[in-house]
Amino acid sequence: MSGETHQYCPLCRVEVTPSQRYPRYLCADCDGKATDEDGRPLVFSNECFSGGFIAQYADTGEVRDSHLCFVDGVKCRADEARFGGIIIQPVEDSVPRRAEQRHAPDREGR
Ligand SMILES: [Zn+2]
Repeated sequence: MSGETHQYCPLCRVEVTPSQRYPRYLCADCDGKATDEDGRPLVFSNECFSGGFIAQYADTGEVRDSHLCFVDGVKCRADEARFGGIIIQPVEDSVPRRAEQRHAPDREGR
């Protein structure tokens, strides 16, 4: 791998800033199209200045307790980016499930 690297949004193929850590992240346009499984628009943000992840419905502001979203019918996962902000990447459906996905408890006590 020499010379310039180019990276493209996996959905609309627009060029994005290359990221080794997030090789398949969605561009800002596609981020803005995220919805839940019923097509309701979602917005993602950091919980506080130091990070954290929060998903909310764009219309009501209601918090959604999930990282899953859909962009143009593609199942994606939104998450807190390492350096702040939010990263959305397509979920690899073809990847075999690792073990059993455990349901994280709503809020870990304490
Ligand atoms: Zn895009």
